[in-house]
Amino acid sequence: MRFTQLFVPTLRDAPKDAEMVSHKLLLRGGFIRPLSSGVYSYLPLGLRVLNKISRILREEMERVGGAEMLMPSLFPKELLEESGRDKVDVLFTVKPQDYFLGFTHEEVITDIVRKDIQSYKQLPLLPYQIQTKFRNEPRPRGGLVRCREFLMLDAYSFDKDEAGNQLAYRNMKEAFGRMFTRCGLDSLSVEADSGAIGGSQSEEFMVLSADGEDTVLRCGKTGYAANAERCEAVPAPAEASDTVVPASESISTPGTSSIEAVSAFLGIPTTRLIKTLVFNAPDGQPVVVLVRGDRELNDAKLAKLLGGPSSLADAATVLRVTGAPLGFAGPVGLQVPVRMIADREVETVRDGVVGANTADTHLVHVQPGRDFPHPEYLDLRTAVAGDISPVDPEGRLETQRGIEVGHVFNFGTKYSKSMGATFSDENGATQLMLGGSYGVGVSRTMAAAIEQRHDDNGILWPISIAPFEVVIVLVWPKDDMQRQAAEDLYHELSVAGVDVLLDDREERPGVKFKEADLLGIPVKVVVGKGLAEGTLEVSLRRSSDQKEAVAAVEAASYVSELVSGLRAEVSL
Ligand code: ATP
Ligand code: MG
Repeated sequence: MRFTQLFVPTLRDAPKDAEMVSHKLLLRGGFIRPLSSGVYSYLPLGLRVLNKISRILREEMERVGGAEMLMPSLFPKELLEESGRDKVDVLFTVKPQDYFLGFTHEEVITDIVRKDIQSYKQLPLLPYQIQTKFRNEPRPRGGLVRCREFLMLDAYSFDKDEAGNQLAYRNMKEAFGRMFTRCGLDSLSVEADSGAIGGSQSEEFMVLSADGEDTVLRCGKTGYAANAERCEAVPAPAEASDTVVPASESISTPGTSSIEAVSAFLGIPTTRLIKTLVFNAPDGQPVVVLVRGDRELNDAKLAKLLGGPSSLADAATVLRVTGAPLGFAGPVGLQVPVRMIADREVETVRDGVVGANTADTHLVHVQPGRDFPHPEYLDLRTAVAGDISPVDPEGRLETQRGIEVGHVFNFGTKYSKSMGATFSDENGATQLMLGGSYGVGVSRTMAAAIEQRHDDNGILWPISIAPFEVVIVLVWPKDDMQRQAAEDLYHELSVAGVDVLLDDREERPGVKFKEADLLGIPVKVVVGKGLAEGTLEVSLRRSSDQKEAVAAVEAASYVSELVSGLRAEVSL
């Protein structure tokens, strides 16, 4: 490809609203352009990267027996009513017809197989597609990281028995690992919450990056890793103490409606405070939730426990349930019989402080089980760095930030049950199919690669997903000798199967060099003044200060070999 035939509108500076490195560099390099919040066009270079990622994904899907297909983006409303996902908050609806825009395709594929699969002989199946998804994300972010319209690979497995179902999950997990390695990403699989899709077994592939939205907890001792949404929070051991906790007592704490304010006012550490929160559960009933003052309640864990997302109760409900104005609710002396649950650590609080269910008042010297009935103790808080590892009492958790690039779910019979996807087994008995779904954010992977590989001058694409493998910078296109040498090399490399870009623009050399760095093409060949001595200058983008003068006659084979070496680094 020749630069003069491409459309690469580079920018000197990134727009101010771009915060993540990948967002800035994708805009500056002319890879993408926004149309509206979270909605992007892929310009020629961006599309080349997407296509290269997609190709790797297709090859790995084929290796595990995936069959590519393409499903529609318009979903009739009734389809999602069957599974109960018509209320999912990220759904876009289409007017004037009653359609949703496709956000993931479990229902569509299940509808196909329930109609077309009758016998165990037709199973297993592993259909997949690479297709645009639509989600009304409340906060699109980071360019391609969180979009309202994005490209996803989604695969679905259907099996006749648990052994097959497990095998499909394992195969897909391995396939995803290979995909990300081949895309040049350092990724890690972590235990995950299964969210809106539901189901039991679920892992995410994370690209570790300081700007990632997800928190990953890892135990260095065992290698255990989990998303913070999911990671079990092991209670800190209770402090041993022989002293008897005095009788509880109410104390005036005017204006102290936050944990920090109460702690400061009383001079008691937040670890001895118990937060009391009132939620409206999905069934409409209020639920009282207790967590230690210094801990964060984990919404995903609460949602899993209560069977769906809950919202914080309004002031009137809090008053009705506890008798307290907002900020002073506590578990002692509730007004109505109500379900009370607590994080396990609450049980270990000694000599605690709780809201007194009266304005500007707290109770001190409170003991769970003595001053109020023991609630149900459950894992409800978010794990943090320093916590005991859930798999090894000697291990400690560390936190890192990550970008989720892929997700594997085993949902068992969730969709086959709600939508009636059955088959007849070897004995003629009707059985529910077992299934899983597997998604890779193709466009997000493009951004994640940049988050992991860039420097002050621009992108450092892994060769497997770079828009081009080699760029030939023709310094003076008007110089016949230079032009001829560049054209010759361009042809020889193309014939050798190297993906090469010839920068044949009439631009200042400085601009061309700067842009070659910005665009991140792994190998650069400069055809310039060295040609007088019969040499071209070859360098790698990742170590651009190491320049090699190579005889023009040998340049094609030299560069081909360099490219082969780089390809080998990201192949399996
Ligand atoms: P997230 O937790 O980041 O919102 P999710 O868990 O809802 O993602 P899945 O339904 O598991 O996402 O989708 C599969 C993959 O699609 C994700 O692993 C991610 O790589 C990608 N993806 C999901 N949402 C977006 C989005 N809004 N923009 C870009 N890629 C996305
Ligand atoms: Mg996910």
